[in-house]
Amino acid sequence: MIKHLQDTVKLNNGVEMPGFGLGVYKVDDGDVVYQAVDGALEAGYRSIDTASYYFNEKGVGQAIKDSRVAREDIFITSKVWNDQQGYEGTLQAFEESLENLQTDYLDLYLIHWPVKDKFTDTWRAMEKLYKDERVRAIGVSNFHVHHLKKLFAESTVMPAIDQVEYHPHLTQEELHDFCKLEGIQLEAWSPLKRGQLLDEPVLNEIGQKYNKTAAQVILRWDIQNEVITIPKTITDKRIAENADVFDFFLTENEMKQIQALNKNDRAGTNPDSYD
Ligand code: NDP
Repeated sequence: MIKHLQDTVKLNNGVEMPGFGLGVYKVDDGDVVYQAVDGALEAGYRSIDTASYYFNEKGVGQAIKDSRVAREDIFITSKVWNDQQGYEGTLQAFEESLENLQTDYLDLYLIHWPVKDKFTDTWRAMEKLYKDERVRAIGVSNFHVHHLKKLFAESTVMPAIDQVEYHPHLTQEELHDFCKLEGIQLEAWSPLKRGQLLDEPVLNEIGQKYNKTAAQVILRWDIQNEVITIPKTITDKRIAENADVFDFFLTENEMKQIQALNKNDRAGTNPDSYD
């Protein structure tokens, strides 16, 4: 389990990925994303999660370029969007992301959603990028167990990551167990359920005991569950708050109480009904 903000988790190909990072979905390109990434790097974050679909790779790249932190000390994730999936489209999308991010490699490249009839061709392109050493690790996002099984049957490289919606209302136990068995690291998107969990009494009661907020309790629960987490915020205060989760420890009983909040309820779309 990670013990500090910059601690890493070893992925199935040996690459070390920070166990905690900043997500930048719905953060405007330009100044807003620049300030958020800059603030996070200053606060000690070393992992940034973006995507071509977020239309802010340019600002992310600029902030990273201007930062005092060396490129090789920052872990950049991006994703291929649905309309560019397929073999050639993915190779092209990757080049576009590199250009926008002003870098010559990515740390992690993900298939954003399992586009039916396309994701295995997309994966062949991801494998090529990986074998050509253009990207240090490749993975998927929003893949259920059945998508992963289909991918395994038609691929030679195992995904290092499955990034899925994951929070106390959606604990994804079957998928998590499957990923553990297969050596795939689970990563939580919308760990705070986009703010919808912050009034949850159980989380606030537990938080009071440790003088922590509900958001901090959730992020601590991610860490103790060994799930990589990437909460999004654009405010310096919350960038600091979210990362201040390494000085307390949830008991086994508290972990169970949080796990019991599950109701298979999503803030985003179910990958099986995604159009
Ligand atoms: P989160 O669960 O991270 O919630 C973000 C929201 O919570 C924002 O409104 C933010 O507001 C607020 N917030 C953040 N910290 C706190 C705090 N300490 N107290 C109170 N409110 C807080 O949602 P996201 O959907 O953004 O998920 C995180 C990241 O996951 C994304 O940014 C993206 O990188 C990734 N993602 C990936 C998806 C995929 O399909 N692969 C889909 C969705 C997300 P404010 O900014 O004003 O602080």
